[in-house]
Amino acid sequence: MRILVTGASPGIGGTTCRMLAERALGRGEVPCIAACEIRRTPEVEALAAELGDAGARVIVLAGDLADPSVPARLVADAVDQFGGLDAVVSNAGITAPSPINDLDVAQWDRLMAVNTRATLLLAQAAWPALRDSEGALVAIASMSGMGAHPGMGAYSPSKAALISLCQVLAQEWAGDHINVNTVSPGMIRTPLTWQVYENNRIARDRAALVPWGRVGEPEDIARVICFLLSPDAEYVTGQNILTDGGFVDSLYSHIPGRPTREV
Ligand code: NAP
Repeated sequence: MRILVTGASPGIGGTTCRMLAERALGRGEVPCIAACEIRRTPEVEALAAELGDAGARVIVLAGDLADPSVPARLVADAVDQFGGLDAVVSNAGITAPSPINDLDVAQWDRLMAVNTRATLLLAQAAWPALRDSEGALVAIASMSGMGAHPGMGAYSPSKAALISLCQVLAQEWAGDHINVNTVSPGMIRTPLTWQVYENNRIARDRAALVPWGRVGEPEDIARVICFLLSPDAEYVTGQNILTDGGFVDSLYSHIPGRPTREV
C-alpha cells in the first residue's frame, strides 16, 4: 500500500502511519508511506526510522500546507518515489481560538488554507494516481465541523467546509471507484490538545462528559482511518464518521427535569 499522510506528528497522523504500517507488514506487504510534515522535525525523522527498521519504506516530505504550491509537490514526490498512490490521509490541521468578532482576515485565511484548501489541492493533484489505483482519500475533520464551536475562530467553518468538500468529491469520484470519507474526532488527547489535559481537573471533567467514560486517544481515530482504507470499506463513500465516544449525541441526557421512567 502506497500512502501519503499529512501532519505525521506524534498525534493522529503519526499513530495512523504506525498502525497502517503494522497492519500491512502483518499481511506480508511492504507499506510505502510518505510522512508529510511542515518541516523535518525530530519526531517525524524518528517515526521514519522506526517504521523503516520494522520493514516499511518511509519517505519524509516537508512543506507548509498553507502555501498553495505545496500539496501538489508533496503528491508528485510521493507518486514519483512509489510509482503511484493508493491513499491520501489529509490529517494536518490547526486551531486559532478567537471570538468571531476579533477574528482578522489573516487568521481566517490561514485556517481555511490548512484545514480546508490543502485537502482540495491534495485531492486535485492525487486524482490521476488514485483513479489508477482505485484508491481512497480520508480527511480528518472534527466534531466542531458538525456544529457551532464558539470561541474557536474559523475552526468550525473550516471543518464544516472540509466535510462538504469531501462529500462533493465522493460523488464526483464514485465513478472512478475512489472512496472519499471524513473522520470527525471528538475530544482526543494529542499534541494539539495536551496542554488542556495537563490540568487534571479539566481532564477529569472532560472524561466525565463522554458517555464512553474517557476522552479519545489517537489510536481511536487511527483505527477508523485504517477501516476506511481497507477493502472492508469498499462500498463506503461520502460519509463523515463521528468518532467521539458518544459525546456529541449526549446533549439530551443533560436536560434538567427530563423524565427518567415512563409515567
Ligand atoms: P497535531 O498532533 O498537532 O497534528 C497536526 C499536524 O498538522 C501536526 O503534525 C502539525 O505539524 C501539522 N501541521 C500544522 N500546520 C501545518 C501546515 N501549515 N503545514 C503542514 N503541516 C501542518 O494534532 P492532532 O490532534 O493529531 O490533529 C490531527 C487532526 O485532527 C487535525 O486536523 C485536527 O484538526 C483534527 N482534530 C483533532 C482533535 C483533537 O481533540 N485532538 C479533535 C478534532 C479534530 P507541527 O506539529 O509540526 O506543527
